[in-house]
Amino acid sequence: MAYVITTICVGVKDKGCLPVCPVDCIYEGEKQLFIDPNQCIDCGACEPACPVGAIFLDQEVPAAHQASIQENAEFFLKGLPGSTEPARP
Ligand code: SF4
Repeated sequence: MAYVITTICVGVKDKGCLPVCPVDCIYEGEKQLFIDPNQCIDCGACEPACPVGAIFLDQEVPAAHQASIQENAEFFLKGLPGSTEPARP
């Protein structure tokens, strides 16, 4: 399991999730932020910190945003455009 940032984040990138993540596993892509599923410890702290409700536990991602699960993983596997360093507040 891991938490996932959906495309609801696109164009927002509020970054309110960053200061609450205890393991710094949130990275900044060109259009949105992403969570590294291999580093996330499922603490859930980021979910209520997002002002637009973009973050879900992978098993609870709404049907309309299922593609975001793969996109979060691919950001780290395929190196989609964005930073390879953890985003920090
Ligand atoms: Fe970080 Fe916890 Fe959110 Fe995972 S669930 S990204 S560890 S704050």
